[in-house]
Amino acid sequence: MNNIDLTAIKETLDTTVDVLNSKKHDADMGIISMIRDGVVVIENMKGVTMGEVLQAVETNAEILVLGVEENCVHAAVLRTPDAVKTGDRVQRFLPNLSMVSGTEVLGRVLSPLGDALDGRPRISTTVLEPVEQSAPGVIDRESVSEPLATGILVVDALVPIGRGQRELIIGDRQTGKTTIAIDAIINQKGKDVLCVYVAIGQRDSKTAQVIKTLTENGAMEYTTIISSSAAEPAAVHYLAPYSGVALAEHFMRQGKHVLVVFDDLSKHAVAYRELSLLLRKPPGREAYPGDVFYIHSRLLERAAKLSKEHGGGSITALPIVETLAGDVSAYIPTNVISITDGQIFLEPKLFYRGIRPAVNVGISVSRVGGAAQTHIMKKVAGSVKLSLAQYYELAAFSQFASELDEDSKRQLLRGERLVEVLKQPAGKPYTLWQEVLILFVTTKGLFDTVEVKNIQGLLGILVELAQARFSGLITEIETEKKLSDSVQKQLEELSVAFAELIKEKYAISN
Ligand code: ATP
Ligand code: MG
Repeated sequence: MNNIDLTAIKETLDTTVDVLNSKKHDADMGIISMIRDGVVVIENMKGVTMGEVLQAVETNAEILVLGVEENCVHAAVLRTPDAVKTGDRVQRFLPNLSMVSGTEVLGRVLSPLGDALDGRPRISTTVLEPVEQSAPGVIDRESVSEPLATGILVVDALVPIGRGQRELIIGDRQTGKTTIAIDAIINQKGKDVLCVYVAIGQRDSKTAQVIKTLTENGAMEYTTIISSSAAEPAAVHYLAPYSGVALAEHFMRQGKHVLVVFDDLSKHAVAYRELSLLLRKPPGREAYPGDVFYIHSRLLERAAKLSKEHGGGSITALPIVETLAGDVSAYIPTNVISITDGQIFLEPKLFYRGIRPAVNVGISVSRVGGAAQTHIMKKVAGSVKLSLAQYYELAAFSQFASELDEDSKRQLLRGERLVEVLKQPAGKPYTLWQEVLILFVTTKGLFDTVEVKNIQGLLGILVELAQARFSGLITEIETEKKLSDSVQKQLEELSVAFAELIKEKYAISN
């Protein structure tokens, strides 16, 4: 018995326990079995959920779970897509991917992962919002009732947007889609609305231009930019809009109003298609995976107007979609049209003819915004849509007709002038009173006697006249937002004064 070496036995036992312990630890870990362009398949991983963040043991790389299959997990490597290799071990790390929020993010340019891209210090906040969250339920919501003024006359008059609405901006490339969204952000100055601009797969030069425009107009103070540049991996593009809306949700729950722009969801869908094809998911129509509708519906559902009990905050979403040769019946455009509450349709034909913003008023709609339009705007803009529709129809017809009756001539004349007053340069939003005055004098026919080329100049004169002699009217429109008898009377007086002013100088001589 004395021959037994107790020390050796103890050592053997210790080693066995170590091995067993490490085995147990390894049992919770997954192994990367495949990598393609930063997208990985992890085997042996149990109990993980979608949206969870894992960590590569060897390299500390963070990996986002994109899908859970029966035998494996599909995921994308964040920040350092080249760091991992097959055979690396993966462990659970964070329950869910979060985005920074709170007042600190205002005025900043961030990546969809919350990293600073503007050369300023890292955001150090405890306010973290899960990137994937379920949308507010029906009971928590209330119908859209407050206007979100864009300052763009054609939009505010004909396709009004309400706080909590989802209005799609759709059109071919280079038709002024981004400009509409940026002008809407610029117009929120002093209106207690915070803004988030999400650039998805945009060239850095374009995002830099957006930042410059917003900064020059003093709009960065209340705006956060989330940028995923074209050079970034598809997973980052895919994440960007969810990060943007997560950041906005924090403010909405505090009772604030937020405007979120997704520029654009076509590129978002392409990024998701790339991820899905890398993961060998079966391609469907236009090679998009079957669940491409769901990625946009669950995003846009998160835009809402909360009820008073929940603080009354709102998220208004302006998603942008690019069409090819005006084809709105392609897969992604039809999907997003069906998810949103209306669309602003931009046309290259109008854009090249100098009608900018190039809004096609015939097929642009706002399904809930009418309820949010101010009383005065509804009154003065009431007849504009019909007049424009009649004008476009007549204009097409009159190319062939040699003789037109007086009535048609008058409609053509008025239509041309309406089209002219709805032109508006980029970055120059109107206030409510300016929009009201312009529509009032145009629909009253004051421009019918002047040449179209003089009209833009006259709009400036109209505004100056009102500022100099009708300041009471301006205050009344801005505070009451109603076409009361008193406002109506003053508008008539202003029209008379304006007609006098333009009579001798600008009237068509005939
Ligand atoms: P892309 O498809 O490249 O994203 P887009 O549809 O977003 O383009 P913008 O970038 O907004 O279009 O505008 C294209 C060009 O048209 C820009 O140079 C812009 O300054 C000009 N533009 C847009 N709107 C107006 C406007 N109302 N008046 C004058 N110019 C405008
Ligand atoms: Mg654009």
